[in-house]
Amino acid sequence: MLIDERPSLRATPAAWEKLWLYISLAEGEVGGLASMEATDSDFLLTETFLLDQSATDVTNELDPAAVSRFLMEYLDSGADPGALKVWWHSHARESVFWSDDDVRTINNFGGEMLISVVGNKAGKFLARLDRFEPSRQTIGWLDFYPPGPPPSESGPAADEARAELRQRIHVIHRSTNKPWTDCDLPRRKG
Ligand SMILES: [Zn+2]
Repeated sequence: MLIDERPSLRATPAAWEKLWLYISLAEGEVGGLASMEATDSDFLLTETFLLDQSATDVTNELDPAAVSRFLMEYLDSGADPGALKVWWHSHARESVFWSDDDVRTINNFGGEMLISVVGNKAGKFLARLDRFEPSRQTIGWLDFYPPGPPPSESGPAADEARAELRQRIHVIHRSTNKPWTDCDLPRRKG
């Protein structure tokens, strides 16, 4: 066995199933939070959450109001908000990398530390670890090891993910193929 100094990110089968299904079944980009546990030098993704969001084919941002709403529900359920240290999002059909917007989102998280995960429909994933206290530093990349092959896109879990995606994501379609500018705002459909 090779000895790898890089910490790894693993996932429970349930967390992996939701992460995969949300990314795979969403029309475009999608994102949310996840809870995790630290085990020695490794990290375990324990539960994946989808938040209310607006999505276009080119961008995905976490809405602060939706995050607050989610946190209230999460606290009410008796769960430990200290475990919510993962931000995940998808680049849909694009490659996975850390965009300027992603770095800005990460910088705005604060707290003690954050694990960020970006994935795409092709099944590629990147993960990184950032610390904010005692000082701001990007610790580095994490190797992501899913617990098994991608879950089935038919069946009860997939149906549930589809229903959640329909409920949580407000899809904004672009009205033209031009780059977005201040005078080319998306036209809301429906
Ligand atoms: Zn991104």
